[in-house]
Amino acid sequence: MNLAPKHSRPRRLLLVEDEIIIAEPIIRGLRESGYDVDLAENGEEGELMALSEYYDLLIVDWRLPGKNGLELINTLRASGLGTPILMLTALGEVEHRVTGLDAGADDYLSKPVSFEELLARIRALLRRTPSGHYEQMQLKSGPVVVNIAKQIVTVGDAILPLRSKEYELLELLVRHGDESISRSMIADRVWGSTLEVTDNAINVTVAGLRQKLSVALNSIFGQHGHSLLTIETVRGKGYRLVAERRCHD
Ligand code: CA
Repeated sequence: MNLAPKHSRPRRLLLVEDEIIIAEPIIRGLRESGYDVDLAENGEEGELMALSEYYDLLIVDWRLPGKNGLELINTLRASGLGTPILMLTALGEVEHRVTGLDAGADDYLSKPVSFEELLARIRALLRRTPSGHYEQMQLKSGPVVVNIAKQIVTVGDAILPLRSKEYELLELLVRHGDESISRSMIADRVWGSTLEVTDNAINVTVAGLRQKLSVALNSIFGQHGHSLLTIETVRGKGYRLVAERRCHD
């Protein structure tokens, strides 16, 4: 069997830019250069995509309607996202660059963007986070660790035996921290479509995941272990993860 090297996976980039006239040639050029590129047209969309999909690099414009680039970077870093971020600023807005770098951007580029320079910056940022970055990527919620690359979930030293939909649901919940996610988002992200999934399928998957989580947590942390991480039903909204903070004083 001839397994392709890991590097053959096209690097995935997310561009967050509302001005299509600027975004369009950048996307075209990046695709021609072999990158897989998605576009988010505002900060909220950028946040949702960056937290629910895997990207190797984010390119975030400073000026966005709604949540601006700085607020977006702040939110992503506060959520624990370590993906490199290249920020686009207007020429001369030095204070934006400083603020952006302080907020967690890794580099910046002034508009109008020189495409060759953009490519060089992207290559440099991707070199800093070699392929191992993806393999090591983990998300944590309470005592539960989600290994994105291996698509496994561990509690303590034990691997949680999840079905693939249960895994994807848990990854989605963990990515959203303590925010609730709607049933339609679950249908879209876990099943790939809101049309091809029944309410019952979602209920069964949530129930299965709850059961496995609570059994694993109880067996490791004792009879109240299940309360360390629970999937709460939020009326009229959907579901969210609730991690219990235990006091150690
Ligand atoms: Ca813009």
